Amino acid sequence: MLESRSHSSTLIVLLIILSVILGCYLFRSDIKLGHIWQKISRFAVGQEIRFNTAQFQEIQTEHFKIKYTNTDDDYVKMIADSAELAYSQVSNKMNTDGKKKTTMVVYPDSRSLAQCFGWDKNEKALGVYWAGTIRILSPHEWLKQAYNEEEFQTDGPLVHEYVHLIVDDMTGGNYNRWWTEGVAQYIEKQITGFEFEDPQDISAGQLYTFRELDKNFDELDQQISYWESRQAVEFIASQYGEEKIYTVMDHLAQGDTLNQAIEKATGTDFNNFAYQCYQYMEKH
Ligand SMILES: [Zn+2]
Repeated sequence: MLESRSHSSTLIVLLIILSVILGCYLFRSDIKLGHIWQKISRFAVGQEIRFNTAQFQEIQTEHFKIKYTNTDDDYVKMIADSAELAYSQVSNKMNTDGKKKTTMVVYPDSRSLAQCFGWDKNEKALGVYWAGTIRILSPHEWLKQAYNEEEFQTDGPLVHEYVHLIVDDMTGGNYNRWWTEGVAQYIEKQITGFEFEDPQDISAGQLYTFRELDKNFDELDQQISYWESRQAVEFIASQYGEEKIYTVMDHLAQGDTLNQAIEKATGTDFNNFAYQCYQYMEKH
């Protein structure tokens, strides 16, 4: 108890120091506030992981620092190899070459993964990206066939979560939930072939508007909101060219809103873009 209290106070002091340094820096430069917030949250979450996984074991690969428990002693090599594979596949596809090591935490069960986010313990997720870090559920918990590396690489969360990290990096943290979910699924489908099941018999009236996707992504029907997110990104790629996905992210990095970034990248008024995009969704 005492230990965790002293950890929290150390964290608060470090955060204050960091904020002051960054605050001074801000006055002398035109660094975007979003970039600063991204740095602070990554730092804070990095510290939180360091404290909360102090009892975990750790291995390092060229691009990852992987923390895991005894449950995954037999799986950690497979996880490490698959993480490096996901790194090279996503880096090739998105034309990036991140030099910094990414921290990945492997939780032994859904309950402990959910706990670290304060979620309902019944929440089922195979992976989560948050502030520069990737957290995954032990493959031991969900693989249909034990130790099946191919199943882990195709149906597992590594490519998807790593794309979230690249979107965060490319945009300086300035993005909407639907955008990052759309890009992650779009790239994942190309690399692994994986796609979430399409929602059944969806009619045009049941589709969410972009405003709804922007505002309450997590409260919406996840099957529909994820499907729409992927469709919107696919629409940009097929109608305007895949490179426009990256142009949108360049504009986001400059501080534009997502709607402004899409307008600039596609050269289309956003309402017109949305109209065409929903027509595209109705056909798919
Ligand atoms: Zn995702």
